[in-house]
Amino acid sequence: MVKIPFACGECHLVLDDGVDSCPRCPTARVSSEHQGYVIIMNPTRSEIAKRLKIDRPGKYALKVSIR
Ligand SMILES: [Zn+2]
Repeated sequence: MVKIPFACGECHLVLDDGVDSCPRCPTARVSSEHQGYVIIMNPTRSEIAKRLKIDRPGKYALKVSIR
């Protein structure tokens, strides 16, 4: 069984294993239903980072479904 990590519904950050709240937005909802990963190294130079409003490097989900 593959464990799916949670992703933050607010900033799309993919959380570490066993982490169930986003360290950047603790009040945001998290979801294990997400699609696609993107590693952002340099947010200021990345189009996708701009589109997702990402301003810090990290691993992000492209799409997060919050139920
Ligand atoms: Zn977040």
